[in-house]
Amino acid sequence: MKSLSPMMAQYLETKEKYPDCIVFYRLGDFYEMFFEDAKKASALLDLTLTGRDCGLEERAPMCGVPYHAADEYIAKLISLGEKVAICEQLTPPGKGLVKRDVVRIVTAGTIINDELIDQKNNNFLASVYQKGDCGSLAWVDITTGEFFVKEFEENFYEEITNELVKVSPVEIICNREPQSIFNESPLVKHGVLPKFNCFIESEFDYNIAKDTLEKQLNVHSLSVFNIQENSLNICSAGALIAYLKETQKHALININSIQVENIKDFLMLDANAVRNLELIKTLNDGKKYGSLLWLLDKTKTAMGARRLQNWINFPLNDKNKINKRLDGVESLYNNTLTRQSITDALALIKDISRLAGKISNGNLTPKDCVTLRTSLEVLPLIKFQLLGITNQFISDIADNLIDFSDVVSLLNNAISDNPPVTTKDGGYIKEGYDEKLDELRKIKTNSKSVLSALEAREREKTGIKNLRVAYNRIFGYYIEVTNSFIERVPYEYIRRQTLANAERFVTEELKDLESKILSSDEQSLKIENEIFNDIKNFLSGKIKELLATADAIADLDVAVSLATVARENSFVKPTILPLSGTLNIVDGRHPVVEKLSKQKFVPNDCLLDINDNRTMIITGPNMAGKSTYMRQVAIITLMAHIGSFVPARSAEIPLTDKIFTRVGASDNLISDQSTFMVEMSEMADILRNATSNSLIILDEIGRGTSTFDGLSIAWAVVEYVTSKIKAKTLFATHYHELTELEGKLDGVKNYKVTVKEIQNTIVFMRKIMRGGTNKSFGIEVAEIAGIHKDVIERAKKILKKLEKQNVNSNEFSSKEENIEHKIISEAEKIILEIDVNNLSPMQAFNVLTDLNEKLKDKYEQN
Ligand code: ADP
Repeated sequence: MKSLSPMMAQYLETKEKYPDCIVFYRLGDFYEMFFEDAKKASALLDLTLTGRDCGLEERAPMCGVPYHAADEYIAKLISLGEKVAICEQLTPPGKGLVKRDVVRIVTAGTIINDELIDQKNNNFLASVYQKGDCGSLAWVDITTGEFFVKEFEENFYEEITNELVKVSPVEIICNREPQSIFNESPLVKHGVLPKFNCFIESEFDYNIAKDTLEKQLNVHSLSVFNIQENSLNICSAGALIAYLKETQKHALININSIQVENIKDFLMLDANAVRNLELIKTLNDGKKYGSLLWLLDKTKTAMGARRLQNWINFPLNDKNKINKRLDGVESLYNNTLTRQSITDALALIKDISRLAGKISNGNLTPKDCVTLRTSLEVLPLIKFQLLGITNQFISDIADNLIDFSDVVSLLNNAISDNPPVTTKDGGYIKEGYDEKLDELRKIKTNSKSVLSALEAREREKTGIKNLRVAYNRIFGYYIEVTNSFIERVPYEYIRRQTLANAERFVTEELKDLESKILSSDEQSLKIENEIFNDIKNFLSGKIKELLATADAIADLDVAVSLATVARENSFVKPTILPLSGTLNIVDGRHPVVEKLSKQKFVPNDCLLDINDNRTMIITGPNMAGKSTYMRQVAIITLMAHIGSFVPARSAEIPLTDKIFTRVGASDNLISDQSTFMVEMSEMADILRNATSNSLIILDEIGRGTSTFDGLSIAWAVVEYVTSKIKAKTLFATHYHELTELEGKLDGVKNYKVTVKEIQNTIVFMRKIMRGGTNKSFGIEVAEIAGIHKDVIERAKKILKKLEKQNVNSNEFSSKEENIEHKIISEAEKIILEIDVNNLSPMQAFNVLTDLNEKLKDKYEQN
């Protein structure tokens, strides 16, 4: 009876332990995959599916990749959502079965190769623990050692979703409860968030998780890290560590602390605000270019770039903390020379966090050592510059720029300045560092001259002029004689290899020499390895300090970047007021529109308080600048909360707890609902969560339904936010009727974006003024957009007639008037909704037909 070969039995035993991974099984120079893994991988990676005798009747399906090219294939599998278990040979090949085991599981959240991770972004792995309406979220980047956790005491689904979208993890593990809910959510379905994968339930168990976490962080009580007894944070964070242990199978030395984030310590920005205000990427094409991050990012290091993104995503809400940052930025703003020197120095610093990560993850190369050394060498210079500045934020940073002269001198003495990429062939330890190594190397160099002496001697002796001594990997050193001289070959030469036009030989002397050279090679390789291991061990002991320094450099880089941007764009330091203070922006600008627009940006003021000026109703034609204005108020508020200067002549910004935005017909990509449904559910969310200390931006609420419905909803919303919530609100609308609220409803003030009528057309003035408009200028905007002049003329006539009939009154009293009002609104609405810049002739034609039919209908009815 046939039975499974021992190797295949070993394979199956391994595979059984990793059922959800594709097992890369090392066989010599290849990683092979078998059975279902092979079928799947060959399809995904476009590999030839072959078979291998496994001892049974049927051959095992098999495919493989060369080990040196494995990274590329692994990356591809990871990007397709697979996990890869790397099974290595643990004993040298010889008699009997080679010992093998899985040394690492690679998943999207545990990638460590430079080529596979984005330098300017974190590669976060998240762990979600849900228990009813409460839960917690932990997230970690194993390449930098950053480890965070956050607890949710209510509204679990909503709040954690907001956080997850901002954290933007590449992989999520969870306990059983949230898996199905989240995997059915539009965010996961549309790929905004990765799929939630259930990890071993018991690892989330409070006591087990607590034990895992305490061991990893090396503490007896987690209160050292502000984690309280019974906190759900323990469950998500502990399970996350368990998952890392399971997949990485090493000590995770760089994950040595955890930062507990309290939702209440940050200005709450929901995912909509991040998207609508284009903080990290633009709405249009999802690129960084054109976003606030893009504008503010003059950072010089990857650490700084990642930190800036973190500051923007998580603005502070504590006056002292904000002021500490602002004062730090100010001191750099004022010291131009120092700022310049620091900027230049920062440009020489590489990613110290990730270098520390490599020390921890065991993939540090000699080249990395050089990078680490040159980065650390810059620190004293920066520290010296910082000592010239008297400021708490700056001196905290200076304190954390630790003295690494021991590391620098070790790396300087030990690692050659331009080492090879891999340690495989040695040659990276500097001459003069190790006597034994130097000696062995000398033997090798000497033997080279001995070899050429031998060559010369043999030529002389045999009279074969072109006799040469050479080396190859398979036959070692040999003497080569071409066929034309073959009869002169002396008797003692031993034949090794026959080529078409030459023969290769060895001699006893050559063999001796060879073994000397090879053994010195082998020995020096061994010594270099030992030295490198010692260095890596030494560096392991420095990880904590390296991370503290990297952290300080990240903060410094961001502060310098903010100061530079403030200088270049004439920003001012905002004054932070307590909660419920009056927001007062003088000559505020939208920093990105200003930067990108060819036209001169027209600055505008904004005043919002908790009394008479709670709600601004903003009217004005399309394209006038309403939404730019509202966004700029939100962005200035946000910038102040991250500790940045702001685009204005002066700005007093009260502490704000939340910023909400409900803007336009925003892309409903991440939702399965209709546009109107999205609008209403977002509105519902705002009404539920906003407080009197929130800032709300509402653009065109109620447009997705019929005019009266929409107007009624808009009206009621204004009433509610103004009188019930009492939040600071900016409300842009086409419903001129809403301007009637001023005087009737406390706290409401009308504003308009001005336009000038010149010779039947309009010029946008972009200035916000008190008062309401009662004219939409829809036709004028349509004209500017290029609608045929016949239509424009006709529309103007119709409008005049309608106005004469007084149907455009602000009150909608009689039924008849209502209908006419509705029709004109619809006509206007159609024209107004035209996207001026993107109208094809066909679309223009369709608009015309529509308008024409609507108006005809009306006249026929009359
Ligand atoms: P609305 O919301 O009223 O339709 P937008 O805010 O979208 O108008 O503004 C339309 C365009 O006008 C913007 O893309 C911008 O280029 C320009 N704009 C807006 N506000 C200003 C301003 N204050 N100064 C200069 N240009 C502006």
